[in-house]
Amino acid sequence: MIINLKKEVSEEKALALAKENKAFLIKNKQEYVLVNSSSIKEVPASLENYVSEFFVFPNDMQLSSSDYLSGKRTIQLGDIQIGGKNKNTLLMAGPCSVESEDQIRKTASLLKGLDIKVLRAGSYKPRTSPYSFQGMGSQGLKLLDKMREEFGFKIITEVRDSTHIDEIIAYADIVQIGAKSMYDHGILRKCGKVQKPVLLKRGFGTTLQEFVQAAEFILSGGNPNVILCERGIRTFETKTRFSLDLSGVAYLKHYTNLPIVLDPSHAMGYAYGVPDLAKACIAMGVEGLLIEVHPNPAEAKSDALQQLNHEEFTALYQDLKAVAASINYNLV
Ligand code: PEP
Ligand code: MN
Repeated sequence: MIINLKKEVSEEKALALAKENKAFLIKNKQEYVLVNSSSIKEVPASLENYVSEFFVFPNDMQLSSSDYLSGKRTIQLGDIQIGGKNKNTLLMAGPCSVESEDQIRKTASLLKGLDIKVLRAGSYKPRTSPYSFQGMGSQGLKLLDKMREEFGFKIITEVRDSTHIDEIIAYADIVQIGAKSMYDHGILRKCGKVQKPVLLKRGFGTTLQEFVQAAEFILSGGNPNVILCERGIRTFETKTRFSLDLSGVAYLKHYTNLPIVLDPSHAMGYAYGVPDLAKACIAMGVEGLLIEVHPNPAEAKSDALQQLNHEEFTALYQDLKAVAASINYNLV
């Protein structure tokens, strides 16, 4: 249940009411809001005098639900807005990992030339083997910071585990929580305590309900700036790396108020298929796209098979603009 408290309820009183009811307390623009389990269907008698509005839900998809807020939440990123009434699709591109200054500068220059605003690259990489490249860690974050300074990008980079979440929050403009870290409650709770936009990737064995409930950890902590990212789930199919669940995206668009980003690179797993899939993603009308591009994919230290080279990316970019325009969206 979500209970909006009357505007005149003071902070002190709201805190006391939250404690008494073992509820999460968050603040909207004008009022305090109590959030509790969806199993509660009636306003407790002790709260009756303080309630301005309340919402009941069939399950714990609550703050994220389109029954609570219709339309999409707006995410502000400098002077760029996604969600709300905007029809902007934000293109976030860059290599899987930051590997060296030379490598990241090459792709950063390409993206700058195309007027792309958000640079992606991981520096703490959640790999499936301890023997493969684990990312440059702090050193890589400093290189990303340098690219932001030099080129004016916003930076999206991923957190691997809760040991370096503070560092990522300090450096990133968008905090990316990877598919394998989606259940790390240390990360989720920490992200709920800041206001930075958080891009939450769906685990590859995660149902839509579990995915959205992970987002609820961040929202109920007090951070309204959550973006959902579908990046493919594991099915019986082995020819492609994962199966991009576009039906699931249609569900999330309908039932949630959270902006949605699609990641065709990790879903497909092979560069040859990324352009087709990326165009299909844009055609759905979503708030963003995450694409991997590398100056020399064959030598990439992670996800070598799926990264586009600079020529492939440049050609795709022109096509994506056209597809976005055909459904009255702007690729930004
Ligand atoms: C990535 O974005 O490079 C990444 C590791 O993605 P995922 O968490 O979706 O596997
Ligand atoms: Mn990757």
